[in-house]
Amino acid sequence: MTPPATPVRNSNAERDIANVLHPYTDHRAHAKNGPLVIARGEGVKVWDDQGKEYIEAVAGLWCASLGFSNHRLAEVAYEQMKKLPFYHAFTAKSHEPLIDLSEMLIERAPCAMSKVFYANSGSEANDTAIKMVWYYNNAIGKPEKKKIISRLKAYHGITIASGSLTGLPANHKMFDLPVGDRFIHVSTPHHYHGAKPGESEADFATRLAQELEDTILREGPETVAAFFAEPVMGAGGVMVPPATYFDKIQAVLRKYDVLFVADEVICGFGRTGNYWGCQTYSITPDIITCAKALSASFLPISAVIINDRVFQGLADGSSTIGTWGHGFTYSGHPVAAAVALETLKIYDELNIVEHVNKVGAHMQAKLRERFEGHPLVGEVRGIGMVAAMELVADKGAKKNFEPSAKVGPRLAKLGEAEGVILRGLANDTIAFSPPLIMKADEVDEMVERTGRALDALAVQLR
Ligand code: PLP
Repeated sequence: MTPPATPVRNSNAERDIANVLHPYTDHRAHAKNGPLVIARGEGVKVWDDQGKEYIEAVAGLWCASLGFSNHRLAEVAYEQMKKLPFYHAFTAKSHEPLIDLSEMLIERAPCAMSKVFYANSGSEANDTAIKMVWYYNNAIGKPEKKKIISRLKAYHGITIASGSLTGLPANHKMFDLPVGDRFIHVSTPHHYHGAKPGESEADFATRLAQELEDTILREGPETVAAFFAEPVMGAGGVMVPPATYFDKIQAVLRKYDVLFVADEVICGFGRTGNYWGCQTYSITPDIITCAKALSASFLPISAVIINDRVFQGLADGSSTIGTWGHGFTYSGHPVAAAVALETLKIYDELNIVEHVNKVGAHMQAKLRERFEGHPLVGEVRGIGMVAAMELVADKGAKKNFEPSAKVGPRLAKLGEAEGVILRGLANDTIAFSPPLIMKADEVDEMVERTGRALDALAVQLR
């Protein structure tokens, strides 16, 4: 029998449209517009398959911390593949990259931590943290303490549980999320939109802490298990917390014995100007989840770092049942672990935190200088090497454009023409989270290209 004839498709774009289902994409629009095919990368830049160069203003997905070329990481991966390409960590099996990386993460943790568990993505790390919290409370004899509080506009991932924690409509609509009745969302700590007229950051933070306390009391403190938070909210719009926010939130959590899970998937490893976002905001978490910059995103790996209190609960439960029935085939994959270990060594050698403080201060100043006065920009915000500018239809009224006008995506498209890859978030907010290795002159070029795109957008909107 002759196989059915397959249509001949030559270009990458045609073959992509024919075969690929893209994450975070309007599939109908994609069928018309096609993909941007990225062919190679070097430093903070990438090139498409037509040879056009772009500065990556978001390091891919806030993740390519060492940029798009690093032979040392490639060699470590190759050597590890030759030595031991796979082994697992189930039933107490281990290997050196796993042991070395765990020791290094415990040494570097922002507060006293006990053990590290590995997964492959931020979503899986947060799913794991949720399961740990539930398991822990069952093990310590508090089976009713299961509800989890996160914030509206939080981004914690897209699996069923982590997607339930996420507080963004696009991640819930038509997916039937949040699932069950254990996920509760409180207000976004974004002073620009959330504060009442004349309300100081500190007063706004007091009000949010009161809301958290009221929520815990309404639900019953005996039912509330954990609070999940990104130190700086990323994909929801780069919201830097108002002054005193985390101090006041942590006081409430301590009062009602609610665990703090810090989602460091974006903030971890220098992004906010400290090794951890927790250090930037004096957070003492019980559990930390991290991914992305953990391996500079050369390979997928995420980690869940837990304190001794949580570990003791998991250990008791596992000895009662006979096992802790959780783990992924690729938990602590040796090649990913070896690459992550080398990544952390490179951060030390580059003095990455110092670099972020220096270049981050320049980036924040440059963005404000170029965009704060722009008629389309309502707010420029950020810290370290993470920032955003929010586009508005009415600056005085802080009024966003209608989503149907797709102003953010239009700017991203104009950015491509100018040679900068931008990421538009909800509310036409444009994120900046470049590779941590970006230098000051590359920041200037990124801002300049973005500025030209924004001016072109202003002409279009006239
Ligand atoms: N948590 C935060 C703060 C994130 O920014 C992300 C992804 O952007 C995730 C979790 C989910 O990570 P992943 O996409 O690897 O599942």
